[in-house]
Amino acid sequence: MTCCASLSHRNKVATKDLQSLWLDILSVIASKVPRGQFITWFKDTAILGHEGGKLVIGLPLPVSLGWHMEHYSSLTREVAQGVDPDIQQVVYTVDTGLRDNPTRTVDLLKHFPEQKRRKLPNKQEVRLAEGLVSKILNPRYMLENFIVGSDNRLAYAACQSVSLHPGGRYNPLFLYGGVGLGKTHLLQATGNALLKLIPGATVVYVTSEDFTNQVIEAIQRQKMEQFRRRYRVVDVLIIDDVQFLANKERTQEEFFHTFNALYEERKQIILSADRPPQELQMEDRLTSRFEKGMIADIGPPDYETRLAILVEKAQEYELFIDRIVLEFIAEHAKKNVRELEGILMQVVAQYELEQRVPTVKSMAEIMCKLSKDPYAKDDVIGFSVQPKRMATFQDVMEAISRYYSVSVQDMIGASRVREILLPRQIAMYFLKKYLRISYANIGERFSGRDHTTVMNSFGKIEKMLHNDPQLLREVRALEKELDFV
Ligand code: ADP
Ligand code: MG
Repeated sequence: MTCCASLSHRNKVATKDLQSLWLDILSVIASKVPRGQFITWFKDTAILGHEGGKLVIGLPLPVSLGWHMEHYSSLTREVAQGVDPDIQQVVYTVDTGLRDNPTRTVDLLKHFPEQKRRKLPNKQEVRLAEGLVSKILNPRYMLENFIVGSDNRLAYAACQSVSLHPGGRYNPLFLYGGVGLGKTHLLQATGNALLKLIPGATVVYVTSEDFTNQVIEAIQRQKMEQFRRRYRVVDVLIIDDVQFLANKERTQEEFFHTFNALYEERKQIILSADRPPQELQMEDRLTSRFEKGMIADIGPPDYETRLAILVEKAQEYELFIDRIVLEFIAEHAKKNVRELEGILMQVVAQYELEQRVPTVKSMAEIMCKLSKDPYAKDDVIGFSVQPKRMATFQDVMEAISRYYSVSVQDMIGASRVREILLPRQIAMYFLKKYLRISYANIGERFSGRDHTTVMNSFGKIEKMLHNDPQLLREVRALEKELDFV
C-alpha cells in the first residue's frame, strides 16, 4: 500500500520533470522551426521516458512518426543534448492517448503564444509631399515571389524591364486581365523594386477610385491648380484598376493632363485594368495614350503555374502540405490565384485551430463548402470544384433506388428483370461517369460481375440517352438530385 502510494507519487514527480525537460527542449526547437510547423508537429507530444541516455518521445498520431523521423529527429537530439548532455539517443513511439491529455504534454499554445501578426499595411496611406498621398506598397508583393507561367510571362517581363529602366521603352506600361490574376501584385512589386533602385523616388500608387476622390475633393474645394501641381513631382505613377474611370469625364480629363505632364518628363506610368484600353469606354485621347507604350495581358494560370504558386504560397505560410493535396487543389481551383490563396487560408485555419493535417478528403470538404457558400462572391472565389466528387457509391445507389423504387440489394444482385436491369445499368453509368470508379471495381461491387459487363452497360445507357427521351429525362432528374450537373 505504502509502496504503491509512494510509487505513484514518484511517477507524478517524474512526469512533471519530464514535462519541464520537454518544455526546455521545445523552447529551443520553437526558436528554430517556423511556428505553424512547430505547433502542428509538436502539439500533444511528450517525453515518455528518460533513462540510460535514451529519451523516449511520444507522438499522438501515426502520421507524425514519419515526419519527426525525417524532419525533426536530428534537431531534437541536438537540442536535447544541449539541454541535458547525458542524452545520447532519441527514440519515438506513437501513443494516441496523448491527445487531449494535458497532464502529460506541454500546452504549446500557452507557452508559445502567437506573436501578434503585423497588420498588412496595404490599406494605409503615406504622405509623400504636400497633399500627395500614396497607398503604402505592400512589401509582400515582390517580383521575386511572383510565379511566372506562360499566361503572365509577358506582363512579368515588362514589369521587370520597367523596374530596371523606368521611363524607358515601356512607358506607359498597361497591364490588363481578370480579377485575382496578379495585376496588383505586379504593380506594387514594380513600385517596390523601383524604390529600391532609386531610394527617395516619389512612387505613388493609387487606385482609380482614390484618384477620382482626390479630383472630386479638389473640385469641391476649388483647388484644382494645387491638385495638378501636386502630381507634377511624382517620379513613378501607378494607377490600379483604371476601368473605374469609365464615364467619369472630369476625372479622365484631369488624368489626361497629369498623364501628359509626367509622360513628357519621361516619368514612368504604370496602369492596370480588367480589359484592354480600347474596351475601356474612355475618351479616345486617353486610351490612345495608354496604347503608346507597352500593353501586356495576364490570363488565368495553367495547371503547372497553379501548382507552382501553391508550393510558393505554402512555403510563405510555412505549411507542410502533401504534394498530392496541392495537386488536388491545383486541379480543381482553376479560376484565379486569389481562389488558390483562399483555399490555402482555409488550410492555415484548419492547421491552427484544429491541428488537422490537410488531406485530399479534407481539402475536398473545404472546397465544396466554399463553392456552396452563398456569400462567396463568384468573381472573387469561383470554386470550380465539382460536387460530383463528393457523391459516394452509397449516395448513387440510394438515389436510384428511391427514384425507381427498387432495392439497393436487388440492383447489386443477380436478377435480370427489366425493372431492375435498367436502374442497375444507370447506376453503373453514374459510377463510371461521375465517380470515375473503374469498370473492374464497379463490377466487383455488383456481385463480382466482369468488367466487360459494366462496360457494356455504360455503353448501352450512353447510346440510349441519344434516342430515348424518356430515359434522358429520368437520367437528368437523377443527375440533378445527385448534384452532378
Ligand atoms: P488582381 O489585382 O489581378 O485582382 P492580385 O494581384 O490582387 O490580383 O492577386 C491576388 C492574389 O494572388 C495576391 O495575393 C497575389 O499575391 C497572388 N498572385 C497572383 N498571381 C500570382 C503569381 N503569379 N505568383 C504569386 N502570387 C500571385
Ligand atoms: Mg487588383
